[in-house]
Amino acid sequence: MARSLTILGATGSIGRSTADVVLAQREKFQVEAVVGGRNAQALAETAKRLGARFAALADESAGPDLRQALGGTGIACGAGRSAVLEAVDRPADVVLAAISGTAGLEPTHAALKSGRRIALANKESLVCAGSAFMADARRLGVEITPVDSEHNALDHALSAGRNRDVEKAVITASGGPFRTWSRDQIEKADAKQASAHPVWSMGSKINIDSATLMNKGLELIEAHHLFDLEAERLDVLVHPEAIVHGLVQWTDGAVTAGLALPDMKVPIANALHDGVRLFMDLPRLDLAAIGRLTFERADEARFPCLTLAKAALQAGGAMPTILNAANEIAVEAYMAGEIGFYAISEIVETVCSTSSAGGKAPATVPDALAIDGEARALARRLVPAKRI
Ligand code: MG
Repeated sequence: MARSLTILGATGSIGRSTADVVLAQREKFQVEAVVGGRNAQALAETAKRLGARFAALADESAGPDLRQALGGTGIACGAGRSAVLEAVDRPADVVLAAISGTAGLEPTHAALKSGRRIALANKESLVCAGSAFMADARRLGVEITPVDSEHNALDHALSAGRNRDVEKAVITASGGPFRTWSRDQIEKADAKQASAHPVWSMGSKINIDSATLMNKGLELIEAHHLFDLEAERLDVLVHPEAIVHGLVQWTDGAVTAGLALPDMKVPIANALHDGVRLFMDLPRLDLAAIGRLTFERADEARFPCLTLAKAALQAGGAMPTILNAANEIAVEAYMAGEIGFYAISEIVETVCSTSSAGGKAPATVPDALAIDGEARALARRLVPAKRI
């Protein structure tokens, strides 16, 4: 029987790959709702291709455009916060949560409903409000399957043994566009250079996070919540070929790794089917053709965002929430050309060290968003002094 699916973030990079998976396995899915940000044309197109029953845009002002684009199709639609929440509320077996940034937290959290599965691509839900989010998921019996390639690989590698026998769980990083650049070169790089990711084509914010390695830091925090592994048992390895996505080193010295060609359709299809592997007509990994895989340690002197994220994970409490909020503001300023590359880590560091929130992990999503708001305000005040 076809499973009903709702896609949050349907017009973004993960959403588009999800649409490809759905179209490749057309008989497996009935698409209930699709949610986008502000691009009415792109969302209408997606809704029609997927035969969705409902389409919602977060941006209220784009509502009339969406209505017009869907005129005569019979697809219901709406715009604004209430329309997004209506989309989330409609019955679905699986919700793919891929709205980027902290904006995805509220709808992703609202999607937690008994008997449902969440295919989670919005890492900020776990970084900003991980304790609250996971506690609510457990209480409601909601299964979370990670879509992020590293976590999807770890999820499978971890099933080869017991949690207590995990010595280290390692996620890999391609190293981003500046892997081989000197600190002086990186310092002068603009957002366009930082967005030129060597392996994955993604949205703009995550491209910058990949260039700073903050993305890998956020993924460590995500892994901590998903797999109940403390900071000491989590690590990062730079692997430019992006073939090995995650590996688990066990207490007996054995290692279990998850490998695949870097194509998000692989982890997406897996997450949409609860970890079951169904046929996908994709190129196969040919290790003999690739010949060699290389690995190196992350250079935290050139990529201090990784150090800051590790420190926030170690400190726990509200620190990951604060780190994530400050990073979003600093990355926005960098993308706008207002600040230099290393001002991102400087702003994040200052906000983390001066924020008064510290202390306990936020117990609810509203608590997390309140701390997030304070940290953003603090970060915004720091931008002018760093202006280039
Ligand atoms: Mg990733």
